[in-house]
Amino acid sequence: MTLNKKENKIEEQQEGMLNKYALVLTSIKGIGVKTFSYLIPEDMKPVIKVGQPVSVPFGRMGLINAYIVGFSNYLPEGIKAKNISKILDYTPIFDIKYLKFLEWVADYYFCSIQNVLECAVPVKFLSGMQKEQTEKFIEFKTFDNATKRQIEILKILQETGKTKLINFEKQAKTTRATLNKLVNLGCAQITEKQIFRNPLEIFKQQELEPFPKLLEEQQNAYNEIEKRLGSYNNILLHGVTSSGKTEVYFAAIKKVMEQGKNVLFLAPEIALASVLTQRMARRFGIEKTAIWHSSISDGEKFDVWNKIKNNEIRILAGARSAVFAPLKNIGLIIIDEEHDSSYKQTMPSPRYDAKKVAQKLAELNNCPVLSGSATPDINTYYYAKNSGNLIEMKKRYNDYPLAKVRVVDMREERFRANNGIFSRALVSAIEQNLRDKKQTILLMNRRGFSTYTQCMACGEVIQCPKCAIPLIFHSQTQTLKCHYCEHEQPMITECPKCGSDAIRNCGTGVQRVELVAQKLFPDCNIARLDSDSLSKKNQHIEILNDFRKGKIDILIGTQMLAKGLDNPNVTLVGVINADNGFNLPDFRSCERGFQLLTQVAGRAGRGDNPGEVYFQTYNPDFFGLETAKEQDYETFYKTEIQARENFDYPPFSQIIRIILSSKNQYRAERSAQEIAMRLNDIVDNRQLTEPIAVLGPNPCVIERLQEYYRFQILIKNKLEEKGRRFILNFLAQIKLPEDIRLTIDVDPIDIL
Ligand code: ADP
Ligand code: ZN
Ligand code: ZN
Repeated sequence: MTLNKKENKIEEQQEGMLNKYALVLTSIKGIGVKTFSYLIPEDMKPVIKVGQPVSVPFGRMGLINAYIVGFSNYLPEGIKAKNISKILDYTPIFDIKYLKFLEWVADYYFCSIQNVLECAVPVKFLSGMQKEQTEKFIEFKTFDNATKRQIEILKILQETGKTKLINFEKQAKTTRATLNKLVNLGCAQITEKQIFRNPLEIFKQQELEPFPKLLEEQQNAYNEIEKRLGSYNNILLHGVTSSGKTEVYFAAIKKVMEQGKNVLFLAPEIALASVLTQRMARRFGIEKTAIWHSSISDGEKFDVWNKIKNNEIRILAGARSAVFAPLKNIGLIIIDEEHDSSYKQTMPSPRYDAKKVAQKLAELNNCPVLSGSATPDINTYYYAKNSGNLIEMKKRYNDYPLAKVRVVDMREERFRANNGIFSRALVSAIEQNLRDKKQTILLMNRRGFSTYTQCMACGEVIQCPKCAIPLIFHSQTQTLKCHYCEHEQPMITECPKCGSDAIRNCGTGVQRVELVAQKLFPDCNIARLDSDSLSKKNQHIEILNDFRKGKIDILIGTQMLAKGLDNPNVTLVGVINADNGFNLPDFRSCERGFQLLTQVAGRAGRGDNPGEVYFQTYNPDFFGLETAKEQDYETFYKTEIQARENFDYPPFSQIIRIILSSKNQYRAERSAQEIAMRLNDIVDNRQLTEPIAVLGPNPCVIERLQEYYRFQILIKNKLEEKGRRFILNFLAQIKLPEDIRLTIDVDPIDIL
C-alpha cells in the first residue's frame, strides 16, 4: 500500500511481507503531519502491519515514533531510506479499512489526506510518546520471619487486603524502604498493574441503573428502530422536547450490545456529551463506556484508543471528532440534537460534517444512523420522510403541556415610549416568577455588550483593522473585540477619524442585558452563560450546576442556553430579540432562527409547573416566529421546504462554496472571475447549465477577514455525486499564484 499524494489515494496492502519499504506517518514540530519512507528489516517483514506504532530514526532528532500506514517497493526519487528501529506494539491501532474511510473524507471534502489524518488520529501521541500508566499494589503473604515491629505493619496489610502501595504507606505510617524489606523477606508482595485513565473515573461505578418501562409512543418508536438494525439506514427520531428520546436511544443501545456490536453516540457539545456519558455509564457500566472529544487529555485519549483496540469499549460518546475514533464493529450510530450546527467543522480543513461522515461510517459498518431532534435539520427531515425512515413522538413525558408562548410587539412598546430592552410584559412576568421562587432564562443571542461602537460626531463605526466587521465592546475586559478573528484592543476614548470623544456603544448584546437586568431586579442572583464567560475550563458546567441547584434566579445567555438544559424549576423564558438570526443573508437563517426559538421555548415548563415564554420582536407576523410560537415543526417545514425548492437550495441541490481570498482585493476578485468564467465554460460545453448552476463571483457578506479580501462562487449541484466529482475534478486542475488562497467548502452551513 502507498499513500499516493498525487491522487490522494491509498492502495490496499495490509502487510509488509512482499515489500521493501514502509510508509510511516508522524508529526514533527514545525512541519506537521507527514509520511516518510523507511526500510523494513528482514526480520520485521513477517510481522509488520498497517496501524502498528514504530520507532524510526529521524535526522538530528534521533528516534521518533510513527505509525505504519503503508508499504511499497519503490522510493520517491532522490531519497535514501533508513531502517525502522523497532515495532512498539504488534497490535495495530487501526487498519486499512479505517484509512480507506479517512480517504473518503479527504476526497469528499476536497482536502489532503494528511489534513484528515491530523484531525482523526491523535498523532500528538507520537511526538509526546504517550506511555501506559501503571500503579503499584501491595498485598499480604505471610508473618514468617518478620520482626515484632514488622508484624504490626503486616497485620494492617492483612486486614486491608491488596491495596495501592502509596496509599498503604500513608495508612500504615511507614516508608517505602520498610515495605521493600518486607517484600525481600517474602512477607508481602508488590505487583504492578496498568491503570486506565478514564475521564469518567470521578463518577465511580455504583449499581447499574434499571431500565424504565417505555411508554407506548416510546415503545413504538423503539420497535421501528429495532426493525432497521443490521442494515444501513438513516433514521430520524423527531420528538418534541421532553418526549423521552433518550430512553429510546438507551433501549436501542441495549439491543445493539446484546447483538455483540458497539455503539457510537455523538452529541453536539462537550458538556452534553459528558452528561450523556455519565448517564450511559450508570446504565451500561463504566468500564464499557468512554468519552472522546477535543479536550480530554492526550493520556486519556491514548488509553481510550488502547481500550478501543482491545474491543473493551462498547459505547463511545463524544462531540463531532469522535466520529473518527477507530471504533470497530459498530451496530448503531446515534446523533443527538442532530440539527445543531456544531456537527460541522468550519475551520480548519477538513471542513467536515460529522453527520455526513457518520453516514459513511454507518454504510461501511452496515448499520443505521439514528438522528434525533425536536427541530430536525430540514435536509434530514426531508430525506427521512421520503425514505420512510421518519419516526415521530408527539407527546411529552407525563403529558407536561408545552409552554405558552406570547409574542410581544416591540414596535408598540416604542410607541408607548418604552425604549428599554425589556417590554413591560416581560418585566412583570419576571417579577412574578421571582416572587414565586421560580427560575428564569433570558436569551440574547449576541456576544458582547453592544453591537457596534460609533462616533456621534462624524458617524464613524469602529471596525476591525483586519476584517470588514464592526468591533464589539466587551464590558468586563473594557476592550473592543472582533468576533471573526482574534483581534482585541482597548476601548477607544476618541474617534480615530475626527478625534471627538463622543463615542457610543450602540445596540444590545448579552452583557448589556445582564447589566440592565441587574438594575431592574437588584435583589436576585443573576448569572451569564456565553462563550466569553467560559474563561475557566468547566466554568459553564459550574454555572449550569448552580442553576440546577437553584442558586441562580435568572440565567442570561446566548444560544448555549438552548442546548439540553433540563431544569424543572424553570418556568419562564424570555427571548430579548427574537428577530435576531432570522435576518442574516443566508439561506439557512430561517431554519436556524426557528430551531433556536423552539429549543429555548422547550426549556420552560419541564416539571410540574407550566411554562411561560415571551418572544420580543419587531416583526410579529413572520412565519418563522409564528410557527416557533406554536412549536409547530410541520408547518414550518412545509413553508421552508417550498422556499428551498423554489430557489434550488438544499436538499434540492448540493452547495459547494468556493472562496478566493487575497490581501490584494483586486487580485482576489480577478482570480475569482477567471475561475467562475472557466467553470461556466466547461459547464456550458457539457450542456450541464441546468443541473449545475454557477453563481458569482460576489464579495462575501464578510468581505474582508483577517486581512484577506474574499470573493465567493456558489455552485448549486443537482447531479449529486456525479456533479460533485465533475466540479472537484475541475478544481483539482486549478493552479493559483502564491498570494491567492482557495477555500472549498462542500455542504457549507452558512454562506456568509
Ligand atoms: P427529550 O430528550 O426527548 O427532550 P428526555 O429524554 O430528556 O426527553 O426525557 C424527559 C424526561 O422524561 C426525563 O426526565 C426522563 O427521565 C423522563 N422519562 C422519559 N421516558 C421515561 C420512561 N419511560 N420512564 C420514566 N421516565 C422517563
Ligand atoms: Zn468621529
Ligand atoms: Zn477581525
